[in-house]
Formats: sequence, structure tokens, C-alpha cells
Amino acid sequence: MEIKRDVALAPYTTYNIGGAAKYFAILRSRQDFILASEFARDNKLKLLVLGGGSNVLISDEGFDGMVVLNRYKDLKISEDKVQVGSGYLLSLLILDLLKQGVVGLEPLYGIPGTIGGAVYQNAGAYGLEIKDVFFSAEFISNTGEFFTLNNKDMGFSYRHSFLKENSYIALEITLKLSRQDLSDAEKKLQEIKSIRITKPVGKSSGSFFKNPFPDKPAGMLIDQTGLKGLSVNDACVSYEHANYLINKKNASMQDIIELSRLVKEKVYNKFKIKLEEEVELVDNKKFAI
Ligand SMILES: Cc1cc2nc3c(=O)[nH]c(=O)nc-3n(C[C@H](O)[C@H](O)[C@H](O)COP(=O)(O)OP(=O)(O)OC[C@H]3O[C@@H](n4cnc5c(N)ncnc54)[C@H](O)[C@@H]3O)c2cc1C
Repeated sequence: MEIKRDVALAPYTTYNIGGAAKYFAILRSRQDFILASEFARDNKLKLLVLGGGSNVLISDEGFDGMVVLNRYKDLKISEDKVQVGSGYLLSLLILDLLKQGVVGLEPLYGIPGTIGGAVYQNAGAYGLEIKDVFFSAEFISNTGEFFTLNNKDMGFSYRHSFLKENSYIALEITLKLSRQDLSDAEKKLQEIKSIRITKPVGKSSGSFFKNPFPDKPAGMLIDQTGLKGLSVNDACVSYEHANYLINKKNASMQDIIELSRLVKEKVYNKFKIKLEEEVELVDNKKFAI
């Protein structure tokens, strides 16, 4: 594991936004996590884990601590469970499991990012959420201790897990999957691929706001407020999907934040509904471990 200084974070995010990390390392094994965690503690640094960077909006000032990019991709398959390194890309995991006859995650195909990031957020799509397949995970705490938690300890709810309120990093994740219905799973995968292709193009974090109610998705409220195309410099409400706030070229975090503030204000004025961010805002106040 090599620790670098002053590494720009924008290229590690789907928004392509964000200043530099004071310290930066790419982690590929459990041992790398132990070393990075020791380094952060010895140097009294905040430690932030990034997976695919597909649900973060990083400050233009960067991060005054240590950022670790998670590329830990171990994979062990048993009869009805899969243990996976938290840095495995979710879509790649789905394809790799299908090749081995293991099914159950197909609706999540196309969500960018890692399985670790998906657990943090209880990511979901097309009727399936991580909580439905999560069995347990091993974590490392900010004091370097390891511990394992089961599904019921995770505080999963809509786009939420207890990781949002604690400074723990998921290292290895165990999922309960199945070996049945392989051809159904392949059909489902093709179906999801064809739906996903129609998603908006442009640099974004996917849906910017949570859906306040199942029958009132944020995109519909923003669209009905007439905000498609609303811009702040290079930050713009997508014409294709109003819940995507896209970076057209060189938007800063401040541009996206200002745009989201306007969207929230206008939607509130029209519907009296407060939108809440789904994306994680990362600045020097964020302390991931
Ligand atoms: C085009 C597009 C489409 C999307 N579609 C969907 C969708 O359909 N459904 C959906 O739910 N989301 C969707 N997203 C959002 C995003 O892809 C998911 O939230 C994804 O699970 C984030 O994973 P990541 O590895 O990129 O996390 P990152 O963005 O790298 O990190 C997000 C947060 O998770 C924390 N984190 C990451 N890894 C770990 C770990 N190992 N342990 C503890 N904390 C960790 C980070 O510190 C950070 O706070 C979409 C995004 C894009 C750009």
C-alpha cells in the first residue's frame, strides 16, 4: 500500500467534483485496511473510505485527512451464502456470481459503485434493496477493532443504514443468495439492462434527493415545479430525469449545492414537501472512521 500526498479526488467520483485529499491510498486487502487505519490513528487523521464515488459530492476544498479508495475484492462462495470484499463493484459481482450459478442480486445491476457503498446506503432498485440480501458484515472501527454485525443490527431503512451515524468501515460482507432459477435471473438481468440504458447521461450521483413518498417521487415533484433545465453555472437539473442534478462540464460543489437549495425551496413553495439529499456531502466535517 502506497500512501500519497495531495491527490485530487474529482477523478474518483462520478460527479467529477472535489478538491484534493491530504493523504490518499488504494486498498486491495484486509491487511491494507489495517495499515491505513493505523496510519490514520498515528497521525490523528480523519479517515474517509470511497468505493465507486457514485454517491458523494466532495467539497471543492478537498478533504484534510486520509481518503482510502476501496478495491478489496475477495470472493468466497458457499452453498447459500457469498462473502465478498467490500470493494467489489456491485454490477461486476452480479455478473461474476451468475457465471457461478448464484442469483438474487439482478435488480441491482447497473447501480455504480461497490458493495460496501451499497450497504452504507442500503442501495436499491426495481423492488430489491441491499437489506433483502444482507446476512452480516465484518467492520473495522476508528479504534482499529474488528466486529461482526447481522442484518437486524444494521438499522436498514430506505437509503439508510446505521453506518451513516457511526464511523465504521465494512470490510467483508456476507450475502444470502440462491442457486435457483438461473434462467429467470438471466432474463431479469437483460430486462434491467434495457431499462438502465435509458437513464440520463451526464456526470451525476444518480438520484440527488430521496423520494419523500412512494407515490410522490422527487423527480416528479421537481418536474411538476417546472425545474428541468434550471442551472447554476455548469450545474443543471437534467431534462431527462428531474431528480438528476448534473455537472455539465466544470460545476463546483458550491454550484450543485446552490442548485439543490433552489430546487428544495421551489418544491417546498409549491408542494410544502421538504426534499432530503440522497447524496453524501463530504467536507472536512465528515469523519468516516
Ligand atoms: C448513474 C447513477 C445511477 C444510480 N442508481 C442508483 C440506484 O438505482 N439505486 C441506488 O440506491 N443508488 C443509485 N445510485 C447511487 C450510488 O451508485 C449508490 O448509492 C452506490 O451504492 C454507492 O456506492 P459507492 O461505492 O460508489 O459509494 P461512494 O460514493 O464511494 O460512498 C458513498 C458513502 O458510502 C461510504 N462507504 C463506501 N464504502 C464503504 C464501506 N466499505 N464501509 C463503510 N462506508 C462506506 C462512503 O464513505 C460515503 O459516505 C446511482 C448513482 C449513479 C451515478
